[in-house]
Amino acid sequence: MAVLDTFQHQDLEAIRVGRFNMGINTTFIVYRLGKTVFDTGPSNQWKYVKGFIEEKPLEQLILTHHHEDHSGNAGAIKKMTGVTPLAPEITASILRKGFKIPPVQKIMWGSAGPVETDTVPDRVTLSNGEMATAVFAPGHAKDMTCYLLEDRGWLLSADLYIANHLKFLRNDEDVPTIINSTQNVLKHDFDTIICPHKGIVPEGQKRLQEKLDYLLTLSGKAQHMRNQGINTKEITQRLLGKEGMMSLFSGYNFSKINLIRSCLAVNLASEPTH
Ligand SMILES: [Zn+2]
Repeated sequence: MAVLDTFQHQDLEAIRVGRFNMGINTTFIVYRLGKTVFDTGPSNQWKYVKGFIEEKPLEQLILTHHHEDHSGNAGAIKKMTGVTPLAPEITASILRKGFKIPPVQKIMWGSAGPVETDTVPDRVTLSNGEMATAVFAPGHAKDMTCYLLEDRGWLLSADLYIANHLKFLRNDEDVPTIINSTQNVLKHDFDTIICPHKGIVPEGQKRLQEKLDYLLTLSGKAQHMRNQGINTKEITQRLLGKEGMMSLFSGYNFSKINLIRSCLAVNLASEPTH
């Protein structure tokens, strides 16, 4: 597989790459705004990302979190351009040491790190002079940070959104934290989501709210069943259907039962409408 798509949204340029084209979760979009690039794409697609980076002068590389599809080319870009990536503080310490990537993800994306990065400030000036605000949004990953471009009403959402209906969850993801982070992000003003998997999502505030509602509803249903004495495996089967191939391939690191297990840990008493 190769470059799957290049596109533009106003002055935002984008390239979609991926070894496998099996939906939004197996491809990745690298975005460039002026001389700033957001996230790097996976290392097994370096030759295509390299071409994209070489097209224009690069002044700034901003990372959202350490996952290999987001940071995999950070070292190569740094080496090629001399630009030290900016990353959230926790991301920086993970990338400095390097991290373990489960086998399926390694096949899909390749390896990542280690790389030295600088810490991104809470308010960061982009290469075009615009300001962006870093909004810490853990849950999908403990270091994940979104970037808000207030003047444009854009949210660079990292992996907070991806899709309205989540069916699988990684071992290291946590639904209660994802819910908190989503509620926090929704307090900010934006209308377009810039997602590295899904692409440009209009009515982003509405879509993200729908995703939040979905997670709260799913948690409510799961907890209701648990209160009736139904076990987690059965709840998963009834609410989400059979596990997919990906669950099996990943050794259940990425599975439906993970999602239900995490939904059962959501404290719904603190939610006003559910
Ligand atoms: Zn991620």
